[in-house]
Amino acid sequence: MSNRVLYKNSYIIAFFLLFLLSCSGRPEPFTFVQMCDTQLGFGGYDHDLKSFKTAVNQINTLNPDFVVICGDLVEEPNDTSYKDFKKVMEDFNMPCYLASGNHDIGNIPNDSTLNYYRNAIGKDYYKFEHNGYSFVVTNTQLWKVDIGGESKKHDSWFKKTLRIDKAHNHQTFVIGHYPLFLKTINEDEEYFNLPLTKRKELIELFEQNNVLAYLSGHTHKTVINHYKNIQFISGETTSKNFDNNPFGFRLWTVGDTINQQFVPLMTKDLN
Ligand SMILES: [Zn+2]
Repeated sequence: MSNRVLYKNSYIIAFFLLFLLSCSGRPEPFTFVQMCDTQLGFGGYDHDLKSFKTAVNQINTLNPDFVVICGDLVEEPNDTSYKDFKKVMEDFNMPCYLASGNHDIGNIPNDSTLNYYRNAIGKDYYKFEHNGYSFVVTNTQLWKVDIGGESKKHDSWFKKTLRIDKAHNHQTFVIGHYPLFLKTINEDEEYFNLPLTKRKELIELFEQNNVLAYLSGHTHKTVINHYKNIQFISGETTSKNFDNNPFGFRLWTVGDTINQQFVPLMTKDLN
């Protein structure tokens, strides 16, 4: 074999190996941010607006792939609060995905509160994909209270979405507002968790469908639980924390392992 042919063949082999590597390689590791309860107006309107702006600037510097906000975007939904919220949110340099909370759509949502949210903010439940992972954003108010048609529709969408993700071999993050539970999966229902029957049904669905983590807000205190390798995290807010933890957000790293860590808000210009 001539040197030229040998050269050509080694190039072909090298390209082929690179091609195989790129096909078999795992998705690139990435980071994203979980924010909770920006809730403009709960810790003081100007304060919450300012701390949300500080978080946006800080997150832009960290440069994660995207941000999720786990509900209670504002304390009282109206044209002004949502306009202010969106104006700050527009400064993110990366996509920001929103979930709705009880303050956004009411403790017992109805057609009017749901439509107001859908017109002002957008879809209240949907999914997106990133680097081969699925992120399923839910409307937990429709689980907290069974309001009939809308709850049923949401339930069947959720089950179908998880089923399709599993069929595509995707691993999934579920995002909502209410935590499923605070301490144990069998605890009684109260203001800060979901009804026991619904909670058990959801945990079973998570187990059956490659759910890696459930991200929520609502508690205004840090709640970190694990159940059968599924992480359940309600993080710190930028409005008011009941446990006196500093304001901040959670930075998730998704790679060979899936970790999250607290990042305190740089509050020097807040007061
Ligand atoms: Zn809430």
